[in-house]
Amino acid sequence: MTTRRVQVLPEHLANKIAAGEVIQLPESVVKELLENSLDAGATNILVLIEDGGKKLIQVADDGIGMDEQDAMNSFLRHATSKIGSYEDLEAIETYGFRGEALASVAAVAQVTMKSRRKTDDIAVVVQIEGGNEPRVSREGREPGTSLVVQNLFFNTPGRRKFLKSTNTEFRHIYDAVQRVVLSRPEVGLKFISNDESVLDLKPSTLEQRVLDIFGKRQVEGMVWMEEKSEALELSGYIGKPTFGQKSRANQFLFLNKRYIVNRNINHAVFAAYEHLLLKGTYPFFLLFLDIDPHRIDVNVHPSKMEAKFEDEQMIYRFVSTAVRKCLSTNNLVPGLTLSGDEAGGVDLQFTRRQHEWPASARGTDWSPTVGRVDTSTGEITPTQEPLSVQQNRSFVGGTELTERLLGSIDSKPPQRAQEVEAAQAGQPPQSRLVWQIHNKYIIAQIENGVMIIDQHVAHERVLYERALARFAKNASASQQLMFPVTVQISPADNSLLTELLPNFELLGFSIKLFGKNTIVIDGVPPEVKGGETKIVADLLMMYRESHQPGMHDERDALAKSFSCKAAIKAGDKLNDHEMRALLDQLFSTTMPYVCPHGRPVVLKIATDELDRRFGRT
Ligand code: ADP
Ligand code: MG
Repeated sequence: MTTRRVQVLPEHLANKIAAGEVIQLPESVVKELLENSLDAGATNILVLIEDGGKKLIQVADDGIGMDEQDAMNSFLRHATSKIGSYEDLEAIETYGFRGEALASVAAVAQVTMKSRRKTDDIAVVVQIEGGNEPRVSREGREPGTSLVVQNLFFNTPGRRKFLKSTNTEFRHIYDAVQRVVLSRPEVGLKFISNDESVLDLKPSTLEQRVLDIFGKRQVEGMVWMEEKSEALELSGYIGKPTFGQKSRANQFLFLNKRYIVNRNINHAVFAAYEHLLLKGTYPFFLLFLDIDPHRIDVNVHPSKMEAKFEDEQMIYRFVSTAVRKCLSTNNLVPGLTLSGDEAGGVDLQFTRRQHEWPASARGTDWSPTVGRVDTSTGEITPTQEPLSVQQNRSFVGGTELTERLLGSIDSKPPQRAQEVEAAQAGQPPQSRLVWQIHNKYIIAQIENGVMIIDQHVAHERVLYERALARFAKNASASQQLMFPVTVQISPADNSLLTELLPNFELLGFSIKLFGKNTIVIDGVPPEVKGGETKIVADLLMMYRESHQPGMHDERDALAKSFSCKAAIKAGDKLNDHEMRALLDQLFSTTMPYVCPHGRPVVLKIATDELDRRFGRT
């Protein structure tokens, strides 16, 4: 224990301590200097670094500049031109306001500032090393301000030790620069690293800036959104669900043009994508949230990367609803390029299957492969059943699949005899605009190209939403079985079923429990084949596998299991009417493009793409 007296620390020491919070990495220097340039009204900025910023960082702007007095004062702690009163602090409109950055940088590096106002003929030069007395001189320079920061942390070896490799520090700096250029497209910026030009951006629009930074391919995976309420405005780009990212790196949230990290709002965006993203992928977003500065507090973190909101719950709901709305109103079918590069995030096995096609086509060239798909693995096993039997099952009866697709037992669709005959005769379709291939995919001609639809997942999406609707409306639809079925189940299943029984009933099941291991099923949802009472046990099993207590909504998990088990399978032959019914229903769901488990439902190939591939353009 020391017995020292309480004393006020000398300014240079206080600055070094402050620097510990404000300036943690070369990246922080770049961020602070860029924000100063933007606050000074710069329209063009140069960022130059050497050795990942460890050796040198220069930021030069064409902003308002400073006279000698201001240039000297700017290095004092808590010296700022941006606020003057508590009222100002309540409504911050600039990036900076704490007056700490320059004092902190100067405390831990060798700094040279050159600054000239438009109205002056000559620039003032201020040199400070490690927070020592500044040296002042004069020099010619264009109007604006330049700061050169050399040998960061030269006098704090503890800190210097923590600096990472040049590459790592470069990447951090690049990220910081990227956030600035994305939030302020009207400002031009050149970024040079070790004499190499990294960015050379002219002042432009957000649209152009996003294109410059992310490239055409990634931009094709984004949609524009905007939403306004009395208190808030949200606009920007969000990624199409099928362009999910492997990491959270490309998620940008700007609050009044300031990049912030807010887990709550990020989660609001993520939540809007629920069920739409492939597992392990994250949505791209670049969103601008604008709020009256009185209703937020940006002074909660030394580097101002966090903010506090008056009503965070309200913002959460606003963001989530807005994103959800955008996702459901946009045409989110991925435009496919069949070039085989994986950047689009859609794994298209189309090409491979096409090559295999001649080998797997049995009998005549045009006969589709008959197969069953294992829904858990996606593996397809050819069935030994002769083709004609398969076809007959769906065509002769005709209505069983149709009923399951339409989910209604009393509305029998009109069958157009000619169509059925034509299809049965295996004639290539002439007038139709939908075709089934491999008893698994539906191909449909659309205005600008073709769509390929996976019939199983399409039906899953339909059934999933139908199940949710039954839950929401508290209304079930059930078909009574002529011959009730008695099923033996395990005591564990029995207790789970007891718990879930009200929800099973809403789905359309009518089940009576007898003792510990016997149930009698006397009604099933219209989508379930009459004899398929095994589905109850399957549903319980799948529910148990997918549902972790407390993790998900019970009904949602059940709706998912139901949609998977009751949906038509790969291998089910569909007639023309059934295909159309399926597509009609698919496209009246809220989210036709992704199945409840996150697999894509629809792929689209634009005619333009076909033209390009066939050398027509
Ligand atoms: P803050 O930005 O919080 O005010 P800083 O330490 O970053 O604090 O800067 C102190 C002051 O120096 C600013 O308020 C501003 O008046 C002035 N200043 C800093 N950089 C520039 C610049 N590039 N152009 C003009 N003025 C600047
Ligand atoms: Mg500042």
